Amino acid sequence: MSTFMIHNFGCRATQADAASIRQSFLARGYSLAETDSAADLVLLNTCTVTAAADAEARDAIRRIHRQNPGARIVVTGCYAQRAPEELAAIDGVAWVIGNSHQTEIPSLVESESLVSIAGLAQHGSVPVQIVREEMRVARDLEVVPPGGILGERTRPTLKIQDGCNHRCAYCVIPFVRGGSRSLSPDRVLFEVRRLVDFGAQEIVLSGIDLGSYGHELSPRTTLYDLIPRILDESSIERLRLSSIEPMDVTQDFVDLVASSDRIAPHFHMPLQSGSDRILHSMHRWYRTAHYARRVEIIHERLPHAAIGADVIAGFPGETEEEHRVTMNFIEGLPLAYLHVFAFSAREGTEAGKLTETVDDSVIHRRARELRVLGEAKANAFRASQKGRTLRVLTLERRNRDWTPAISGNFLKVRLAGRWPRNRWMDIIFDESDTPLRVEA
Ligand code: SF4
Repeated sequence: MSTFMIHNFGCRATQADAASIRQSFLARGYSLAETDSAADLVLLNTCTVTAAADAEARDAIRRIHRQNPGARIVVTGCYAQRAPEELAAIDGVAWVIGNSHQTEIPSLVESESLVSIAGLAQHGSVPVQIVREEMRVARDLEVVPPGGILGERTRPTLKIQDGCNHRCAYCVIPFVRGGSRSLSPDRVLFEVRRLVDFGAQEIVLSGIDLGSYGHELSPRTTLYDLIPRILDESSIERLRLSSIEPMDVTQDFVDLVASSDRIAPHFHMPLQSGSDRILHSMHRWYRTAHYARRVEIIHERLPHAAIGADVIAGFPGETEEEHRVTMNFIEGLPLAYLHVFAFSAREGTEAGKLTETVDDSVIHRRARELRVLGEAKANAFRASQKGRTLRVLTLERRNRDWTPAISGNFLKVRLAGRWPRNRWMDIIFDESDTPLRVEA
């Protein structure tokens, strides 16, 4: 029986993709290897959102090939979709399979004949097969049966939407994932119930542009319509939303989240810049006043909600003053955490053609400053939660003598002792890093 290993890079949507790939190999009789060195097949599900993400994937391929030169390495995901030849040129790579053919990976790698659709590269006498098509026509969203997902992650991700119809100037995602498409509400319900049957206590609903969920379906529907259906028609204990664009976080939407303690009070809203001029150059469709109002609505209705933001340092043309404006804007918001990205030009995007670039050293210094600010925000948020009773869900332990757990408002805590995962516990939050004592 063949063994395989899978490595995932990138966002929540790629986690759901990796879980599907993993499950499809298990369903065909493959077994999971303990390490890369013991695997016949090693799959890498890549991200290409920044140059750093690309470099991380290339390094991983080289490391795996060094450790296990006999393994067949299969590279898929957004990097494979964007630049397959670049990956095919790395020693050890046997297959490069774009997002366009991701659901066919097991049958492709098992096929004896060369089925190359996009091309065939060569390392000496070793052929590398590249399978990829343009994502102009978005493929249907497919969900592979979730059996075993809980074997890997306590909180499974259910991807209910993929692709994006926006064209943010810096972003390559619409080119590698295609246009927006959604799972039907009935199918979402079916998948949620199935995950609950497998023992899921918390499900993370994910998408690339989650707020556009259902807009293209007929009849049209929305996330706002879907969530109450999930709560009414399944027994899932907690739903969490992955990233959602600020303009989708309306007063009604926040009221909906506040209406049930089965929805995690957690909003991850990309900001990207605190300068209106830069937001305009980025082709973002809101301004800082809109963003601040969204945060205010959440904070008024759910004062203990975790609000997180993505921000990009050093977009072309960003001046020192605009960086300061961004820092000050974030400083003034009750954010619980920041995800900071150092800008890197992606070929094919509009920002990739801009000539007024910011020096690399300046980009990285600004990113560092934003990360320091993000840590201060996270510390302040933790301090604000001290003494509150929180319901947490225990997570995988990984051989420690404490047990990690997560609250609805995205606080990660350490519980003293060894507890089974996927169990609810009420704790009194203590901001220190010391494991919390829990009564059995
Ligand atoms: S909304 Fe913008 S940043 Fe997000 S995936 Fe779409 S194009 Fe990229």
